[in-house]
Amino acid sequence: MRQHLIAANWKMYKTPEEATTFLNTLETLLPPNTQTQPQTVVFPSTTSLPAAVTAASGTGIAIGAQNMHWLDAGAYTGETSPTMLLALSVTHILIGHSERRQFFGETDEIVNRKLKAALAHSLIPIVCVGEHLDQRESNQTSEVLEHQVSVALAGIDPAQASSLTFAYEPVWAIGTGKTATPQIAEDAHKIIRRLIANSLGNDLAQSTRILYGGSVKPDNARSLCCLDDVDGALVGGASLDPTSFADIVKGADGSR
Ligand code: PEP
Repeated sequence: MRQHLIAANWKMYKTPEEATTFLNTLETLLPPNTQTQPQTVVFPSTTSLPAAVTAASGTGIAIGAQNMHWLDAGAYTGETSPTMLLALSVTHILIGHSERRQFFGETDEIVNRKLKAALAHSLIPIVCVGEHLDQRESNQTSEVLEHQVSVALAGIDPAQASSLTFAYEPVWAIGTGKTATPQIAEDAHKIIRRLIANSLGNDLAQSTRILYGGSVKPDNARSLCCLDDVDGALVGGASLDPTSFADIVKGADGSR
């Protein structure tokens, strides 16, 4: 049984005040019984985390960070550690988003270190993987996913990985308005689930949620979030408006 999860990645948008306003509004737009809904997680920028945690308190909406270092402390100017996030009562962490890979040189090996740190600190990780357009067009999608997933999971103890979550985010669909077809998403998710089974065993692969991300909007959310192997969505642009994000959350099944 995998409960659906809908996550909002705000990227470098929203001040603390804007985060508070958004969360106060979102709470009024979602039905009160959070048990029957998909789980909802919002990933604000680092400076808006304290305001978001306060505003989300008691609502059932979880708050996550978009990035962290893998070490607890050290001479790493500008970085935020897992223990610093825990001190803010953050519960989730995005790891290896394609924008981190593309603009900040994040490699699969770094993703692996961050994933190990997240699991060791009981932060719930969402590990992002996905191919670029040229890789899809040259039939390299499987190979790319295989490398990203196997390196991300190297040395991970399945007994510690029950909270593991993946997001399949084809890079060509992020912020472009292009979405994967349900068939493309389902095929990629099946590959990722098989790769998780290869690394961590079939039981864990069956219980691991795999979200789809890439231009999810209220009008396409239901057809993309609710396939056999798709367990929710990671939403960028459409998560910045509380009404459109609430419509996406309401469109997803609670569980199966
Ligand atoms: C994302 O940032 O993870 C994302 C999927 O963005 P968008 O929904 O805007 O494509």
